[in-house]
Amino acid sequence: MANCPECDADVHVDEDIEKGDIIECDDCGASLEVVGLDPVELDVASEDDDDEYYDDDDDEY
Ligand SMILES: [Zn+2]
Repeated sequence: MANCPECDADVHVDEDIEKGDIIECDDCGASLEVVGLDPVELDVASEDDDDEYYDDDDDEY
C-alpha cells in the first residue's frame, strides 16, 4: 500500500512495481508515478499536455 499524494487515499500497488511505473489512484483517478520503492513513494505524474505544444503556424504567401 502507498498513499496517494493527491487525495491521501490508500493506493494498492503490486509487489513487482518498478520505479518510474505509472499507476492510477482508484479514489481520485490521478496518474501517479512510482518515485521510490522502499517504502513505496508516489508522486503525481504530469498530465499529457502535448497538444498545447501544437505549433499552428500558417505561412501564407
Ligand atoms: Zn488519489
